[in-house]
Amino acid sequence: MAQAVELPRNEEGIATALGILKQRFGDRFHTGQAMRDQHAHTTTYIKPQAPDAVVFPTSTKEVSDIIKVCAIHHVPVIGYGTGTSLEGHVNAPAGGICVDLSTMDKILSVNADDLDCVVQPGVTREQLNTYLRDRGLFFPIDPGANASLGGMASTRASGTNAVRYGTMKDNVIALEAVMADGRVIRTAQRAKKTSAGYDLTRLLVGSEGTLGLITEVTLKLQGIPEAIRAARMSFPSIDAACQAVMTTIQYGIPVARIELMDELNVR
Ligand SMILES: Cc1cc2nc3c(=O)[nH]c(=O)nc-3n(C[C@H](O)[C@H](O)[C@H](O)COP(=O)(O)OP(=O)(O)OC[C@H]3O[C@@H](n4cnc5c(N)ncnc54)[C@H](O)[C@@H]3O)c2cc1C
Repeated sequence: MAQAVELPRNEEGIATALGILKQRFGDRFHTGQAMRDQHAHTTTYIKPQAPDAVVFPTSTKEVSDIIKVCAIHHVPVIGYGTGTSLEGHVNAPAGGICVDLSTMDKILSVNADDLDCVVQPGVTREQLNTYLRDRGLFFPIDPGANASLGGMASTRASGTNAVRYGTMKDNVIALEAVMADGRVIRTAQRAKKTSAGYDLTRLLVGSEGTLGLITEVTLKLQGIPEAIRAARMSFPSIDAACQAVMTTIQYGIPVARIELMDELNVR
């Protein structure tokens, strides 16, 4: 397990923020060791570093209230979706408050005609696809884990479907986010075509919670293909496999997923 970086802690600020947030959030605010450990222990090779508390907001206003308290008292805020990230993303090297967004898990609207939907950040990929199935639609980004869509936007997730559908950067249309001072911003509308202003959506996608917490995500949807076929092929070398992939794409064959497995992967 790799060593984690330790940063100086603002003990006074953390104690004050804990007191204020405990009063505001009651039994949705946790300082118990088990809950804190659970929010630092992910599938990472980096040593876990637990936050000082975990809070479960249910609205954008509550996320904003938490961040305002933390900003005033100079306390770190760590967003948390489902904790499936692989590089110690949810560690709290200077302590702070973990904001678990899993309780913000509502699908707010599905605009089937426009092929888009609006979800809260705690909605997971599988939850959305189960909900969409009856309408013949699906959300194609599949990083392997049943991650939250807020977490996937924050890590700019991709997966085996990227060859056809791109990554989160290509599939997030707009975001609502609470910035580091507690202000709520909306980066765009649902319109797919716009040239107005800065592209704050792309700036926030992949920012891993460092710029703010995402509280609403507008996503592109796709039609479920009428038929799906899978195939496995062996190649004499990695180079030959890559050539086959390039040729497939150049011929315009609509492959949805491609994954390379070498001997080491399989082992
Ligand atoms: C088996 C496996 C296979 C994987 N394969 C791939 C792959 O092929 N391609 C790929 O791209 N990824 C892959 N991943 C990584 C995957 O993309 C991430 O685990 C996932 O996107 C994180 O989502 P989460 O909800 O678990 O976020 P968390 O792990 O909870 O958080 C991830 C980061 O986002 C921040 N965050 C979480 N929610 C928010 C929010 N609402 N607002 C702001 N910041 C937030 C956190 O602070 C943290 O920095 C894989 C993971 C696993 C476990």
